[in-house]
Amino acid sequence: MRALICDEPGKLSLIQRDVPVPREGEVLVRIRRVGICGTDFHIYQGKHPFLEYPRVMGHELSGTVEEAPGSSRLSKGDNVYIVPYLSCGKCVACSRGVTNACQNIAVLGVHRDGGMSEYLCVPEQNVISAGNASLDEAAMIEFLAIGAHGVKRGGITAADRVLVVGSGPIGMSAIIFAKARGADVTVMDMREDRLAFTVASLGADRTLVANADAEAEARKITGGDFFDVVIDATGNAAAMQRGFGFVAHAGRYVLVSVVRQDITFSDPEFHKRETTLYASRNAQPDDFAEVVKQMEAGRVPTLALNTHRGALADAPQLFNDWLRPEAGVIKAILEV
Ligand SMILES: [Zn+2]
Ligand SMILES: [Zn+2]
Repeated sequence: MRALICDEPGKLSLIQRDVPVPREGEVLVRIRRVGICGTDFHIYQGKHPFLEYPRVMGHELSGTVEEAPGSSRLSKGDNVYIVPYLSCGKCVACSRGVTNACQNIAVLGVHRDGGMSEYLCVPEQNVISAGNASLDEAAMIEFLAIGAHGVKRGGITAADRVLVVGSGPIGMSAIIFAKARGADVTVMDMREDRLAFTVASLGADRTLVANADAEAEARKITGGDFFDVVIDATGNAAAMQRGFGFVAHAGRYVLVSVVRQDITFSDPEFHKRETTLYASRNAQPDDFAEVVKQMEAGRVPTLALNTHRGALADAPQLFNDWLRPEAGVIKAILEV
């Protein structure tokens, strides 16, 4: 079978490999679509903190079942999506059902080889029927689930004024699921093209340019309160730090982003507001289910989000094209 391997930062090559043989409890999936995200670009550019090369990337995956265990609820030919987080089932987080924060987590395409190949063996519990979703839509479920998880962590309701900071794909997914819960959603970013898209296509209520006046603007928007919930999806330490200042008294702050640096905040400000701070890592099975539900309800504009596509064989060139900011990539999908 063909696989696309990242030998070292900046170098992608198409190689031949044997089709993997499923072990007990594993499903052999014929991969059909791979969504490309910031993580993949970071791996390609050598910016990922804990990555060993060579690596086959690809964690936003859909395909068809090629071979399933005898007792399986899946059968050959079923359209499926893959939950790419392999959890240990034994650690303290797993024992509480928080498998997304497993101490020994292995993410397909990051910690072990992922789905930029024709076939992949995946534990059966990580292979989920895609129902009515198309293969393209099914490959978008994972990144959307990350935003849905952040919204769930924030406990967002229709009573909340929410600020989503960062309008990349994860911020966009947070907007979609906060709107699905009926919240009032403001989006802040520096890129005005992206901000316009969030209003036109995702139903954001208003936008805020992340310039020096943003705090004053936020005060105006909220009648002096600031926001009940702030969700950070910037991947930028300075923005994450600044975000504390946009949280209302008694508000919640959800950090979906992760950066290598320390984040600090003013304790008197944090204390006086009684801010609740959440990390939001990966996503849980019910977040994936929420995405499918909202897709079926027509609340996820997958066609508008999927801006670019191409074939696996062309990926070495496409990665360089898609990395340019002028390319305007929101979600690119590779066909395998
Ligand atoms: Zn991703
Ligand atoms: Zn675990």
